Amino acid sequence: MRKPVLVCLDLEGVLVPEIWINVALKTGIEDLKITTREMPDYDKLMERRLKILDRHQLKISDIQTVIAQMGPLDGALEFVAWLRERCQVVILSDTFYQFAEPLMRQLGFPTLFCNQLEIDGCGRIVAYHMRMMDPKKHAVAAFKSLKFLTMAAGDSYNDTAMLGEADAGFFFCPPEHLPKEFPQFPVTRTYSELQGRFAKAGDLGLS
Ligand SMILES: [Mg+2]
Repeated sequence: MRKPVLVCLDLEGVLVPEIWINVALKTGIEDLKITTREMPDYDKLMERRLKILDRHQLKISDIQTVIAQMGPLDGALEFVAWLRERCQVVILSDTFYQFAEPLMRQLGFPTLFCNQLEIDGCGRIVAYHMRMMDPKKHAVAAFKSLKFLTMAAGDSYNDTAMLGEADAGFFFCPPEHLPKEFPQFPVTRTYSELQGRFAKAGDLGLS
């Protein structure tokens, strides 16, 4: 009997827009546009972001207002629904529960493994807490140890360890330079292309 299938999806860039890019556009702060796509060191990136927020006196409520106005990417709801009818789906993200909540509501609250922000009484983000190092890779490894056939899709540097750990890993709309660095992961650019890849690798059935 074949193993049950579990799909791990990145969140930003796969199901929802890049949160920080939208905050940058809305606030006009250019420096906030840099993401893990450009800066692979997530700790350095987050420290930089928190300093920028402080400098501009931006509170958690300001950021949540922007995030609440973002919707999932076109077709994301249907894609997640398609997938959840055929296999187990877990979203693995390096974002924070406080940021993701308005978007997860719009996606029907699928399972999300991410991180927590520490916020003081005035709404200032004072710190961020990552659950562990390399959480996406560890999650996939754990699911494999539970005897699932694992598949994964992501768009950034911080997804490559997850894609490598999974039984089948695919890029979804990555920046151009990334597939050159990681040619082992097939590139998909639409949900139907990704569905096709998942269907084939996981024997899910396309209809
Ligand atoms: Mg992403």
